[in-house]
Amino acid sequence: MRSRTANRSGIVIRRRVTPAGDIIVTLLTPQGKLKAVARGGVRGPLASRLNLFHHVDVQVYQTPQNDLASIRQAVLEGALTTLAEPERYAFAHLMAEFADALFQEGEFSEQAFELFAGALRGISRQDDPEWVALVMSYKLLGLAGIVPQTARCARCGRPEPTHPDPLAGQLLCAGCAALPAYPPETLDFLRNVVRRSVRASFESPVPDTQRPALWRALERFVTVQVGNVRSWQQLVPAATAPPV
Ligand SMILES: [Zn+2]
Repeated sequence: MRSRTANRSGIVIRRRVTPAGDIIVTLLTPQGKLKAVARGGVRGPLASRLNLFHHVDVQVYQTPQNDLASIRQAVLEGALTTLAEPERYAFAHLMAEFADALFQEGEFSEQAFELFAGALRGISRQDDPEWVALVMSYKLLGLAGIVPQTARCARCGRPEPTHPDPLAGQLLCAGCAALPAYPPETLDFLRNVVRRSVRASFESPVPDTQRPALWRALERFVTVQVGNVRSWQQLVPAATAPPV
């Protein structure tokens, strides 16, 4: 039976400390997601390096007896300190939960890593972190191949639907809908965000007043299509509030 050591570089998207003082982290890396444990890590220098959203270079050791790789060393490659600000932190946390739910362990995706790293950078430095999080959530969905249907009514298939679909977060035609149509900016966003460049989307933000409806649609869509995004309900702003 052979053991092996490998170096991996990635961003901490999940972190948990066990009662025994082990730190279990999930990293998003260009080679996919990696879950590993730093045994007794909470009492050593790894504790501060293996923090949420840190970009770290880890040396992991895999033995045939353990399913979980052990972290031997971790070197901090980058930390976005402004993510500690409460508003930014909430959106960064939401993106991390989202990436964890969308991408599977061992699934190779350099693009997913780049997009996620770009989302964190945007959330850390842009004036409007909520808008970054909305745009990048839809871009991540697009990359995962899970795209809301916008060309046809999700219920009857009629073309060019313009109304919210409160159950599945897609779009309904006037005949199938119970809610009023979306405003033009929201419709434009839903129809185009996945294929539009991130830069172009950042330059034309949807007004604040229309965002709760977008979050609700995203929350419904993700719940139906992806499922287990555990803290999504608490993290998505106003998503759980009843429609006004
Ligand atoms: Zn319809």
